[in-house]
Amino acid sequence: MKVSLRHIPCLGCVRSALKGMSIGDCWDTAGKGKRCERCSHGHKCEEVPDDCKALSRRFVLYLARPLPNNSEEARRRDRSIKRDLRTAVKMALDTSLHPEDWDKYNSVGGDSSDDEDDEDDDSLSDDPFA
Ligand SMILES: [Zn+2]
Ligand SMILES: [Zn+2]
Repeated sequence: MKVSLRHIPCLGCVRSALKGMSIGDCWDTAGKGKRCERCSHGHKCEEVPDDCKALSRRFVLYLARPLPNNSEEARRRDRSIKRDLRTAVKMALDTSLHPEDWDKYNSVGGDSSDDEDDEDDDSLSDDPFA
């Protein structure tokens, strides 16, 4: 049972939002234990690293924000902002949890992974916000 929305989403909820599967809302539950709602079904509930907390919060705040209107332009701009936010959050998490991933971001091959992300975003972006 959902009790209260966490100020800072947990890592699992942020990852869920990064995949476009949710808006990253992270809820404390009434049950015992410190897992959030989404993690209560088996996943370990972990905090995001300290240096990613503010950005993670901004990310889910943006996702929870309703579009000002449903025009094509607003939706297109929304997709573009979400894509940028996902890139930033993913980069922050990757390099905080796995410092060796800095190499990935500095390598020439970085462009191709960006393209993959774009495709994911386009296919998923409409679901949670329709
Ligand atoms: Zn959570
Ligand atoms: Zn959790």
